Amino acid sequence: MTIPKSSSIAIIGGGTFGLSSALELSKQGYTNITVFEKDGEIPSRWSAANDLNKIMRAEYEDDFYTDLAIEATKEWKSALYAPYFHRVGYLNCVSEKGTQKAVDTMHRFKAASEKHPEMKPWVSDIGGRDDIRQFAWQFDGAMPGWKGYFNRYDGYVHSANALRGIHHAASANGVKFFLGEHVGAVQEITYAGTGPSRMSTGVKTKDGRFHPASLVIVAVGAAATYIVPEIGSHVSAKSWSVAHVRLTDDETAALRGIPVTYARDIGFFFEPDPKTNLLKICPMGGGYINTNPSTGISEPPSLDQSRGFVPKEDELKMRELLRQTLPYLADRPLVEKSLCWFADTNDSDFIIDYVPGTSSSVILLSGDSGHGFKMFPIVGRWVNNLLNAEDGKQSISRWRWRDSTSGHTTATDGDDVSWRIGDVKELRDLDLPVVSNL
Ligand SMILES: Cc1cc2nc3c(=O)[nH]c(=O)nc-3n(C[C@H](O)[C@H](O)[C@H](O)COP(=O)(O)OP(=O)(O)OC[C@H]3O[C@@H](n4cnc5c(N)ncnc54)[C@H](O)[C@@H]3O)c2cc1C
Repeated sequence: MTIPKSSSIAIIGGGTFGLSSALELSKQGYTNITVFEKDGEIPSRWSAANDLNKIMRAEYEDDFYTDLAIEATKEWKSALYAPYFHRVGYLNCVSEKGTQKAVDTMHRFKAASEKHPEMKPWVSDIGGRDDIRQFAWQFDGAMPGWKGYFNRYDGYVHSANALRGIHHAASANGVKFFLGEHVGAVQEITYAGTGPSRMSTGVKTKDGRFHPASLVIVAVGAAATYIVPEIGSHVSAKSWSVAHVRLTDDETAALRGIPVTYARDIGFFFEPDPKTNLLKICPMGGGYINTNPSTGISEPPSLDQSRGFVPKEDELKMRELLRQTLPYLADRPLVEKSLCWFADTNDSDFIIDYVPGTSSSVILLSGDSGHGFKMFPIVGRWVNNLLNAEDGKQSISRWRWRDSTSGHTTATDGDDVSWRIGDVKELRDLDLPVVSNL
């Protein structure tokens, strides 16, 4: 639905999807944009992207997302985003113990990278340890049976710094920000009218203040069901473990330039961050959910229930990955451990659409499914396209609103998404600090 450029637009959430939308809409000439963010600063402690790094790989098993990731890569190389993009390459392998599912997935990723004319020249086969040590000579572990490919088109992005940078760029473009648990945390979207005339009037923040808006854009990541409960079980809060090894200056320097290293059956790690000397590492697994027994919907737990620990089985995987690649780090303390929450859909497709029954006054940006950060520079374009759609509808069917006709889903349904390997588990079933819903 085209709206006047002077319309008041409230964006809830100053994370990946929210900031990208704010910047793009301000560039498109919208002059009255306000971002509401529940944390006191950006990057927010609740953002899935408040992290040292995220993988920037362009190949997907699905041409649709590959083309988008190629478009995003071009933007990551632009002056605004380039400071955050580190093109160190992406080593995507399966170890000797990998399941057939892991092997098949890796082969589909490889085929996708070899199929695309822009990526193809950057891709090479990896038949084993000797091939890996051609470019990652620092890896003196056994890497038993590692096979896969190396794609130098890819790398990683410094996600926390990118959020900071785009926050500043959006502010400089006139976007207003309300930050903090009282003035920035949105309690609810307010509505007037019923039936076909029902539409949003704005948002109410935790301090009780009402902020009128003609358009509300919801970009709250894992918390989507709190603000748009109508989406129900089509979006589930899910988490993966993250931990770090703290290195010395010399150790960090020695590992400069190593690729993003992914053993699909074990986990992945990144080049250490030169500022903090932290090497980030993540285990492979189906992830954890936190189902509210009264609704059957997985919701993100409070921050202190996601910080300072990772499940034991994940810690073992992280250590095993280090043992196979950089064995001198395998028994070091793991620090800054956390569970990082994102908004999952059962098919891993995003949701970029109007919320039905709101007369096109509310847009939901959700379902990032754990692969949305690479799209940071282009998410705002999708929102602009939606606003300018001639028929007022989302033309990309896979990003449309999910309702009961899309089938009932549960947080564990994502098992069929090929790149996720491992079972989804309930947080409360793990041997962890007690977890309750917010
Ligand atoms: C462990 C892990 C690894 C990942 N790795 C990758 C990767 O390698 N590559 C990749 O492309 N992607 C990756 N992702 C996914 C990526 O981080 C997400 O796709 C992306 O951050 C989603 O953006 P978002 O805007 O939907 O949510 P977020 O970035 O989480 O932002 C949501 C924002 O909403 C705010 N908020 C919530 N509730 C309210 C409220 N009521 N009022 C106001 N503000 C509110 C939060 O504070 C937060 O700032 C990973 C995610 C995780 C968890």
